[in-house]
Amino acid sequence: MPRLKLHSQILLGIVVGIILGLTLGERATLLAPIGKAFIALLKMLIMPLILASIVMGIVSIGDARNLGRLGAKTFVYYLTTTFLATFIGLALVNLLKPGVGISLGTPGPPPTHGSPPSLLSIIMDMIPSNIFRALAQDKVLSTILFSILLGSALNATRERSAPLITLFDAFNEVMMKLTQWIMALAPLGVLALMATTVGKLGLSVFKPLALYMLTVLAGLGIHAILILPLLLTLLGRYSPRRFFQAMLSALATAFSTASSAATLPVTMECLEKEARIPNQVVSFVVPLGATVNMDGTALYEAVAALFIAQAYGVTLTLPQQLTVSLTATLASIGAAAIPGAGLVTMVIVLKAVNLPVEGIGMILAVDRILDMCRTTVNVWGDACGSAIIARLEGLLPSNATKEV
Ligand code: ASP
Repeated sequence: MPRLKLHSQILLGIVVGIILGLTLGERATLLAPIGKAFIALLKMLIMPLILASIVMGIVSIGDARNLGRLGAKTFVYYLTTTFLATFIGLALVNLLKPGVGISLGTPGPPPTHGSPPSLLSIIMDMIPSNIFRALAQDKVLSTILFSILLGSALNATRERSAPLITLFDAFNEVMMKLTQWIMALAPLGVLALMATTVGKLGLSVFKPLALYMLTVLAGLGIHAILILPLLLTLLGRYSPRRFFQAMLSALATAFSTASSAATLPVTMECLEKEARIPNQVVSFVVPLGATVNMDGTALYEAVAALFIAQAYGVTLTLPQQLTVSLTATLASIGAAAIPGAGLVTMVIVLKAVNLPVEGIGMILAVDRILDMCRTTVNVWGDACGSAIIARLEGLLPSNATKEV
């Protein structure tokens, strides 16, 4: 019998996991350790992979001017797509009005993670006073900054530092191999994660919030199925269908882990090996994107804020809705790439337009499932970005994609 491709195995894992969760209910949580082990293995790869891959990416970019151009394009792509996503969310929530007529009852407790960090503290936090501590504490942005600097310094001393460059090159290769090995476990890991989530939630939690969920999902769908593929076609001249196939394993992993960070090794592997996007673009655009470019999260936060406003009978004016769009974009940038982070940074959005933070309690029950979907869109946004930027930089090899 022919062996199923890895991404088909992962999709099968999702389906079997859902079935197990539905049939076993709470008992499916027995599988939780397997899911946790899988996520831990993925996380184990993140920091060394970022370090090795960005250093090599920067070395191959060479000239600092090239890096500047790449950085500028990446920045513009991140911001425009995230803003666009919030507009889609706002349009839909105004149209479908999922919160109107919802009786609030007693909202559940708001999340207890404390208040979200300010933008300035995020920027200050990026500078690692001790790179080893930053690595040990999984500080992605600090490690990205250090790796960019290290790569640039290697470039500036190319002749003398040639052995170190060779070492990083080999290290990068080895990390990719390790990623492949751990990915072979993905079908099982994904199955366990899905069974546990579905088993814990059951289906009954969805009913009262069905229209709200539908609004979020419709928004995510429009952004992921229409807007991003359109950009991919027009700017990246990359066939969305072929690109989607190449990214399937990463998207399925994002869906089941609800963490862009945990998915990062898989995203990079798919982009480089399947979609053939060059390492110098992937290594720069994707780790940064996993941390700051979250289209799905921004869209979700915009919808959720207006949903809460509607449920409290508050009408937000157009300028207030623009504030929601802006703060949702900022909040998504500040959100960590881990499960549930978007729910926490939503406090920023609610406070900006004077909505009660307790409103978050209302949507807690269905957050996980929406988190899985928005994380998938977050990862898809980063992936499309790397293809588009590679094309705009003239770095997409002609054999990477069918021209459309
Ligand atoms: N879980 C999301 C991610 O990792 C962040 C969020 O909670 O929205 O991309």
